[in-house]
Amino acid sequence: MDVISKEKRSWNMSRIRNKNTKPEMIVRSLLHRMGYRFRLHKKCLPGKPDIVLKQYRTAIFVNGCFWHRHENCKFAYTPKSRKDFWMKKFRENIERDKLVMKQLENSGWEILIIWECETKDISVLQKRLKEKLHYE
Ligand SMILES: [Zn+2]
Repeated sequence: MDVISKEKRSWNMSRIRNKNTKPEMIVRSLLHRMGYRFRLHKKCLPGKPDIVLKQYRTAIFVNGCFWHRHENCKFAYTPKSRKDFWMKKFRENIERDKLVMKQLENSGWEILIIWECETKDISVLQKRLKEKLHYE
């Protein structure tokens, strides 16, 4: 596979705030099984969080590791060609994420970021959700 198509694939897979991605579906079905009630993609909130648990005043973002730059994660590699282009995109994204988090926190929301790579181990993911949501 050549470099360009690999980059393009990464791009397509990781576009910002892509709705109903596979990692997002994994988190949703797990929350459902755990008995939580939630809403999706609330447009009235900054950043349109992927999952909103109103009872816990918690907004969950399921972030792609590549696009949202998961630190020290192997999925957050930097493509070798068009480096300036990618660095600019990544910077913009990180800035946007920071702004959204701040806006949500300022209005009293708890934020939980689930990274794409964290959805690969369901038991670890479940533990994280339980801790954050004080699930009995
Ligand atoms: Zn990751």
